[in-house]
Amino acid sequence: MKVVEDVEKAARWARSMEAARLSVGLVPTMGALHAGHRSLVEQARRQCDRVAVTIFVNPTQFGPGEDLDAYPRDLDADLQACRELGVDLVLTGKTSGVGAIYAEGFQTWVEVTDLAGPLCGPTRPGHFRGVATVVTLLFSIFRPHRAYFGLKDYQQARLIERMARDLHLGVDVRLEPTVREPDGLAMSSRNRYLSPEDRAAAPGLYRSLVAVEEAFRGGLQSPGDLLEIFHREIAAVPRVEVQYAELRDALTLEDPGETPLGQLPEGGVLAVAAHLGSTRLIDNIWLRPRGTAESSAANP
Ligand code: AMP
Repeated sequence: MKVVEDVEKAARWARSMEAARLSVGLVPTMGALHAGHRSLVEQARRQCDRVAVTIFVNPTQFGPGEDLDAYPRDLDADLQACRELGVDLVLTGKTSGVGAIYAEGFQTWVEVTDLAGPLCGPTRPGHFRGVATVVTLLFSIFRPHRAYFGLKDYQQARLIERMARDLHLGVDVRLEPTVREPDGLAMSSRNRYLSPEDRAAAPGLYRSLVAVEEAFRGGLQSPGDLLEIFHREIAAVPRVEVQYAELRDALTLEDPGETPLGQLPEGGVLAVAAHLGSTRLIDNIWLRPRGTAESSAANP
């Protein structure tokens, strides 16, 4: 496995794969790898000739007062995990100097408008601009055939999918299901910051989403009624402070009003952000009408 810090070296590697007609799958991450990241790498491994992982805590997607400095970093363990998964190249990325992800004097930004508006948009101004920009940079460096993202970060996933299409980037963006702990808590690098009490309460978030899914599967279609079930369930969960809980069109993230979810082409998504102590968690459930594919991975 090659480990490089310099974007030029990563680009050279990617060009040599292209010359050898080998497909490249890219998995962008911020490190502190867990089973959610691993599932993306495994999917890339199955679908591509070569797999590149990036481990870069992207400063431009953190707002003032957010956890950039405290974000977990464990490069040795991450590299070991990548080796075990059969990754071909890891770009660790640097924030400054020659070969940095952001060139000296950087001043070019990518902004996805409507999809960045709702949900995390208002509470994390500039976050999606940072995400869209760094992913564009990584796509430019690697020009991968496919790139893998988790539906755990639902808004981010839809935004990157849209951006790749809008900018004709020629990258097949694959969205993969959320990997969870046995008790339902969505895997996240930030889970390690939960106190034992908060960790014990955290699965209540997912249980509340599952209650909504069950009602949906039982035939309930009204966004308002479904959301009410969520609020009823989460109210009984201790320690969880909901920042937002919204039911949106699963593709456009627009407010569906009272349109029954079955009338939306991909159904709806109930997306939630909540604080447990000082840790902010997000989760969601995609309420798809039956017959739509599980994920893009279901149609390789
Ligand atoms: P991050 O390192 O948090 O930036 O995440 C890197 C990629 O892993 C993103 O595409 C995330 O959506 C994805 N990811 C994070 N957690 C999970 C999870 N629990 N299940 C599936 N994918 C995930």
